[in-house]
Amino acid sequence: MMTGIGTRLAVGTTLLLCLLFRQYTAYAQDTGAELLLREHSYEFRREIIEITDGVYMASGYGASNSAMIVGESGLIMIDTKESKSAARAVLEEFRAISELPVKAIIYTHGHVDHTNGTTEFVGDDELEIYARTGFRDNLMPDSDLSAISFARTSRQFGFFLDSEEFINMGTAEYPIRDEEGDGYLPPTITFDEERFEVTIEGIDLELVAAPGETDDQLYVWLPGQRVLFPGDNFYKAFPNLYPIRGAMYRDVKIWAESLEKMRQEGAEYLVPGHSRPILGTEQVDKALGDYASAIRHVYDATIEGMNNGMTANQLAETVTLPEELADSPYLTEFYGTVPWGVRSVFNGTIGWFDGNPTTLLPLSEREQAERIIGLGGGSDNLFMELQDAVASEDYQWAMQLADYLLATEYRTAEAREIKIRALRGIARQQINPTARNYYFSVANELSRQ
Ligand SMILES: [Zn+2]
Repeated sequence: MMTGIGTRLAVGTTLLLCLLFRQYTAYAQDTGAELLLREHSYEFRREIIEITDGVYMASGYGASNSAMIVGESGLIMIDTKESKSAARAVLEEFRAISELPVKAIIYTHGHVDHTNGTTEFVGDDELEIYARTGFRDNLMPDSDLSAISFARTSRQFGFFLDSEEFINMGTAEYPIRDEEGDGYLPPTITFDEERFEVTIEGIDLELVAAPGETDDQLYVWLPGQRVLFPGDNFYKAFPNLYPIRGAMYRDVKIWAESLEKMRQEGAEYLVPGHSRPILGTEQVDKALGDYASAIRHVYDATIEGMNNGMTANQLAETVTLPEELADSPYLTEFYGTVPWGVRSVFNGTIGWFDGNPTTLLPLSEREQAERIIGLGGGSDNLFMELQDAVASEDYQWAMQLADYLLATEYRTAEAREIKIRALRGIARQQINPTARNYYFSVANELSRQ
C-alpha cells in the first residue's frame, strides 16, 4: 500500500506529526459503519507474535508489518517499516528476543511503508539487501506528479483529519512518522529468476516473483518452517485493486495468479505485510484461495461485460462478488472495493473511453449544469432540492446537485457549505476507510476556501 517513490519525501513532512498526538475520541454516537471500522482497528493492535521456532513478526507497529528470522549467527529481516522511528520501535522489541546482528534484509516490494526504516537495522556487520530485478520500477511516476500524489495520498490515508474523523487507514491504524528523513537503502542483491533460492545463516529461503499489488512484488517462502510471507498481495481486507490516491494499473489477472502460486506451496503460516497472521494449513489455503478467486472474479466479470458492450459505469454498478466470497472475513471492503477494481480493470485494459460515443465530446460541466438546472425548474428550485437531499441524508444526490450549482456559481458559499455537510454525512456511512478519509479531507479543504 502507501505511496510511490515520488511522494516519499513529501509524505514524510512535519505536518504528519499530528498523527503521533492524535487523541481517540468518537462522535457522540457512532454510525454502524463506524462501529465496524473501530472493531477492525483491533486487527492492528501492537504485538510481537512468535509464528514458529525462530520466526517472529511485529504486528501493528505503525503502517506495516516487519518480520525477523533467527539464523545460526545472525538475523534476517523482512521489510523495514515506514520510518526510522517505526523501525527502532520494532527493533527494540526484537532485541528482547535476539541480540544477533542483522545479516540480511529482504524487501517484499518497493512501497515506502516497507522500506523506509532500513538504516536502523544496520549494525557493524555487513549485510545484504535482497529484492527482485525491477525493484521500484513502475510505481507512481516520480516528480511530475508529486503535487497531486501528495494531495490524494494525504486524503486517502487521512493524514490531516482530526480524531473524530479518522479511525484507521484500512491496512494499519496510523503510521509512525518522524522528521529524520527516510532510512531507505537500495538492494545489494537483485535477481531475475522466477524462484531465487538462497541459504542465509543456515535458513533456506525461496524468494519467488509474485507481481500483484506492485510489479516488483515477491513472496518469501521458508520451506523448512512452512512460513510464507506474501508481502502486500494479501491482507485481511478486499485488495486494493485500485487505490484512490491514484496508481499505475495493477495487473489484476497476474495478481490472482501469484496468489495461486503461493497457495501451491502448502504453507502452514501466512505472515502478511499488513494485518495479523493466518495460522494453520487449511486456513492459509482457504484464505489464499478465496482471495485469488475474488480478484479473478472481478477481472473475469469485468472483461466479460466489456466484451458484451457494457460500459465502466454499468459494470461498476452490476459486478459483485459471489455470496460465499462476499462473506469471507478477508474480503470485507476495508481497503479496496469491488466497483473501484472493476473501473480499474476497464481503464487499465482498454483506456478511459467507455465505448458510448455520447461521452466522446461531452458538454462542458457548466453547460451541462445550466441545462440540468433549467430542466429542474431553475437554480432556486435546485437549491431547495439540495437542502432537502442533505436533510434526508441523501448525500450522494446532494453532492451531485451541489456540483451543478457550483458549476454555475449560484450561491456558491451556501452550495459549498451544503456539499461539505453531504461529504461529512456520506463519510460516516462508509466502511471503507480510504473513502471515509477522502470525503472528510475534501470537506475540510472546502471549508477552508
Ligand atoms: Zn504496504
